[in-house]
Amino acid sequence: MRIVHAASEVVGFAKTGGLADVAGSLPRALARRGHDCAVVLPLYRSVRHGKQPIAPTEHVLSIPVGNRYVPGRLWRSQLPDSNVPVWLIEQSEYFERDDPAQGRSFYQFSMASGQKLDYPDNCERFVFFSRAVLEALRLLDWWPDVLHSHDWQTALTPVYLQEVYRHHPNIILRQRYEQIRSVFTIHNIAYQGLFRAADLMLTGLDWRLFNHRQLEFYGQLNFLKSGIVFADRITTVSPRYAEEIQTPYFGNGLQGVLSERRDRLSGIVNGVDYDAWNPATDSLLAANYDDETVAVGKAACKAALQKRYGLPEEPRTPILGMVARLVEQKGLDLTVKAADALLNLGAASGNQAPWHVQLIVLGEGDPVYHRMLQELRERYPDRIGLTLGFDETLAHQIEAGADIFLMPSLFEPSGLNQLYSLKYGTVPVVRACGGLYDTIADCTPEALARGEATGFRFVAYTSAALLVAVQRALELYRQRPDQWLQLMRNGMRKDWSWNRSAGEYEQVYQAVVRAEA
Ligand code: ADP
Repeated sequence: MRIVHAASEVVGFAKTGGLADVAGSLPRALARRGHDCAVVLPLYRSVRHGKQPIAPTEHVLSIPVGNRYVPGRLWRSQLPDSNVPVWLIEQSEYFERDDPAQGRSFYQFSMASGQKLDYPDNCERFVFFSRAVLEALRLLDWWPDVLHSHDWQTALTPVYLQEVYRHHPNIILRQRYEQIRSVFTIHNIAYQGLFRAADLMLTGLDWRLFNHRQLEFYGQLNFLKSGIVFADRITTVSPRYAEEIQTPYFGNGLQGVLSERRDRLSGIVNGVDYDAWNPATDSLLAANYDDETVAVGKAACKAALQKRYGLPEEPRTPILGMVARLVEQKGLDLTVKAADALLNLGAASGNQAPWHVQLIVLGEGDPVYHRMLQELRERYPDRIGLTLGFDETLAHQIEAGADIFLMPSLFEPSGLNQLYSLKYGTVPVVRACGGLYDTIADCTPEALARGEATGFRFVAYTSAALLVAVQRALELYRQRPDQWLQLMRNGMRKDWSWNRSAGEYEQVYQAVVRAEA
């Protein structure tokens, strides 16, 4: 099949989150499975000055935005280590303002106070981009079976396809556009692209669409909702999240429209790039290991990690690790609240000799959590390792050196860290939500006996429930090392590669192409 991905971020070019990983890795995995793929991305400043070589093409664009035509040009590049073309949409006023040193990202800028605000012209920037994607297909004469768009920034492409391009005045082009099916993926429903009603004028779409069953959301224009309503198929990044977002607790107001389209909605867990995340080949580790050699290899990585943080180098002291953006979503309130009890679990072990727990946290984010964690470290200097910042090397070393990985998330659409943990033999303790629910099998005695258990889950969003789950994990770790080894190996042998995810996307594409044939 021929598939074009429209995304506002692609790893290797521009990244703020998981969307970029999907938009970069999925087309590559699909191409390896024999499909013809391309990616369309804005030409940001960071792309122009980035590592990937880019080149201009002769194709120029003129896109209606409100009452004027905005010019642009197509540039060309490739996904790293592949033949997948990346078409870059050049429009320097819209897209070449990002500059991290000045606090300007792709969608937001920082005020002097540190407060982050959306760019006031985000609506027209992504109206332009979404229409440019459809125009690029015509200019390149490259006609896909599937147009796959991601998140609010490209959510209008299925609307334009249905409302404008499938009615193209040129009959040949009309037939071409009519053949394209649309798939839309929600990566995080918390970000919807909400704009004033009057901004509908910028889109060039008919006011008849501005009603509560289509583009309107409580008096505003909602891009994400529009994509959900108009796409031929909708996916999100785990089966559980697909269920959750149909409920008020997780749906952020869109639960109704999602339930109505549930026969078109499904979930596919994101994959892992095992070229970058594999303890057998990871050059950032003190020792390499696989599922056969994990006991020895992890011990070496653990000692190196304890040394790195100046913690007592005790091989049987369990290390709990955490790598996360320090934001509410990641369950830091629970962790900090449970910390005293967690760190003292070994002190209350009855008539056995007391033992300790070590906790290592890497993250950056909300200053409130920075302070809470710093305070905790001051109270337990010999049990806590803390790094407030972004450090990819350290993220690998924590995955390898920790025994247990904590993810007590409030919500988690897909989640990557628990999948890295599985591969590194670091047993995840997770809150059973979203992708965490789908990827971690709870360690009941039966599941362990069947070789299926991979971690520990808890349900209630409370520090008590987190504590019970960690306690269960530590009991097994301390008392049944043989079973613990089995648990690590179960996780290490799971396949969460992009090839597996790509296979599932392939089925969605096949279904949508067949459905309309
Ligand atoms: P989310 O996309 O919500 O942040 P995921 O678990 O899906 O959560 O992915 C987070 C990714 O970001 C992982 O690759 C993780 O290792 C990385 N990461 C998060 N915070 C840091 C940090 N402070 N330093 C290094 N890597 C980090």
